[in-house]
Amino acid sequence: MSLDLFFDPKSVAVVGASRQKGKVGREIVVGLVSGGFPGKIFPVNPNAEEVEGLPCHPDLKSIGTVPDLVVIVVPPKFVASVMKECAAVGVKAAIVITAGFKEIGAEGRQLEDTVMQIARRAGIRVVGPNCLGIMVPGRKLNASFGGDLPAIGGVGYVSQSGALLIAILDMARANDIGFSTMISIGNKSDVDELEIMSALGQDDQTSVVAGYLESITDGDRFVRQMEKISQDKPVLLIKSGGTGAGARAASSHTGSLAGNETAYEVIFDRAGIIRCDSVRTQFDYAQAFVHQPLPPGRRVAVITNAGGPGIMTADAIERKGLTFARLTDETIARLTENLPSAANVNNPIDVLGDALHDRYEFALDVVLSDPGVDAVIVVLTPQAMTDCMETAAAVLRAAKKIPDKTILASFLGGLKIAEAARLLRRGGVPQYDSPESAVTTLRVMCDYVAWRNRPKRVVKLFPVNRRKVEQIIERHLRRGVREIAEMESKEILEAYGFVTPKGMIATSAEQAAGIADQLGYPVVMKIWSPDIIHKSDVGGVKVALNSPQQVMDAFDLMIYRIPKKMPGADIHGVLVQEMCKGGMEVILGMNRDPHFGPLLMFGMGGVTVEVLKDVAFYLAPITAEEARDMLTRTKAYQLLEGVRGQEGVDIAAIAEGIQRLSQLVTAFSEIREMDINPFVVGPEGTTPVAVDARISVEKT
Ligand code: ADP
Ligand code: MG
Repeated sequence: MSLDLFFDPKSVAVVGASRQKGKVGREIVVGLVSGGFPGKIFPVNPNAEEVEGLPCHPDLKSIGTVPDLVVIVVPPKFVASVMKECAAVGVKAAIVITAGFKEIGAEGRQLEDTVMQIARRAGIRVVGPNCLGIMVPGRKLNASFGGDLPAIGGVGYVSQSGALLIAILDMARANDIGFSTMISIGNKSDVDELEIMSALGQDDQTSVVAGYLESITDGDRFVRQMEKISQDKPVLLIKSGGTGAGARAASSHTGSLAGNETAYEVIFDRAGIIRCDSVRTQFDYAQAFVHQPLPPGRRVAVITNAGGPGIMTADAIERKGLTFARLTDETIARLTENLPSAANVNNPIDVLGDALHDRYEFALDVVLSDPGVDAVIVVLTPQAMTDCMETAAAVLRAAKKIPDKTILASFLGGLKIAEAARLLRRGGVPQYDSPESAVTTLRVMCDYVAWRNRPKRVVKLFPVNRRKVEQIIERHLRRGVREIAEMESKEILEAYGFVTPKGMIATSAEQAAGIADQLGYPVVMKIWSPDIIHKSDVGGVKVALNSPQQVMDAFDLMIYRIPKKMPGADIHGVLVQEMCKGGMEVILGMNRDPHFGPLLMFGMGGVTVEVLKDVAFYLAPITAEEARDMLTRTKAYQLLEGVRGQEGVDIAAIAEGIQRLSQLVTAFSEIREMDINPFVVGPEGTTPVAVDARISVEKT
């Protein structure tokens, strides 16, 4: 069923309507009446004759018709019986405002389950319990105790916190933000954030979907749905609290580097969701998305009446990775001709401190029609002669003339610019306290455009030996072994097209030397024990052994020393392995988030990865473009490309490794965590080698 009955009901009953001041049951009726709700309002209370001038009904049945929406505000212990009544009369939509359910513990949870069971059986959709209600200003519907309806506007807001919503309402009034819908979902026992956001995604009155979320109910569905919504409209979310995935003990580098927040970052990225760290930034972005066109490109021009703020804006543009627009000769000529000779006619364009609105308007008109300019930031400081209001009006006029380029304003100051700021905001040109905020907003808009225009996601499938991997994993799970050791991990990798170094296990020094002779020098030796996870930590890795003697010595030393460091470790022998020379060490890994699935990791630095923490995460399955994008997100990406005469490495080969890993972990949900560390990559045209690997599995 659609959620229309919640957003556009023709009649609303309030069960628990009250005459008592300060009671929620009264506030809801007051909200409906004073908001001017055009439909029927039915207060229900057996002990009252009338509430807010409306006749009161003893129960739902006695209303005589079935209300489209029922708002329930009775004490928790009565909610179940009211829900039964709703079922009996055929109600299909209810908002349970009442708190005291699952949020208070086991007893409340049970009560909530009972209520929801009744609702489910009767096909009643429920918002709440423990919520603030719903506001739809455009329909004059205020079924909440959040106070007066906000202004009508393009933002559809969903909040898991009712209290925050009240603060947002107040802030919105002060900042001229209008809403299509505001809804508090409380314990979201039935209707959840995803359903609401999907509805807002389809709603013509909503141009920006915004929200505050603490938890996400269904990770997989969330990603898929949100990707669809973001394709149409920007989604601005504040997300607090982690997934808890990072809290579990991790046995891999990837697991320990995947923090609480990683999963959210990754899925927000995939779904095109714009993450906001505060209501302030959410409003900053929202006003731009609602009122301004998306920037056609990243080239920004700045018009200012003050040098310092102009430079600050230019700095921010540079820092945020936007492009400083180069004005055409024609634009410069027109500016030179018409502005005072002291004015700066190059970007940032300085119209000088004594500029009145006409100079701003002229400069704006000229710059906006320059084909090399995608967006303009208008900066102003209120100097003695500045006519702030007229200038604001001039900016609005110019914006109207060229509606396909993004215009943001940053009038700096406090009292002197307050009125002009309001005029700008109400006229649809977003105004920012600082040039930095304007630039950040512009950057966010550009990123959103890039996301929307991203190439169609095509995940490449490589021919692999899936059966082989299945067998190895099955064998481990059957025996209850969760850690797949190096040798078998490498068999798995080989089955998925990775190259691993040749090697064999030796159980005596002589045998080790024999294997080394066969492999050719230099060789690497590694302790072979199912109990030792990080071999180098215990002196269990020796590289660059160049002769049979060195091999035999290394063998003896390991067998002698390691049991002292790790008493009780079951040592099966020593692996003698061919040594890969040169190349750069990187790590490829995966950590499976219980809600969102496999998070792939790419990082720099092999064994030092946890120190450098220079890593990037992405959700599998991954495309070739995304895999490359992962690499560019690391700080040390330049090292991969080659710097200062140092040869770079084969970037496409790393990207292919990430894609193969992606295919492996997508095919086997039993793989919980894994590292390929190091993954040694050489110059272009060489094949990277998976030198070490660890895979841990669990039954699904
Ligand atoms: P662990 O991670 O358990 O300590 P590794 O097998 O990853 O053990 O080895 C540790 C380090 O030794 C690697 O990061 C790499 O620098 C080096 N190394 C190990 N094996 C080889 C090899 N075959 N060729 C080149 N270097 C190697
Ligand atoms: Mg290693």
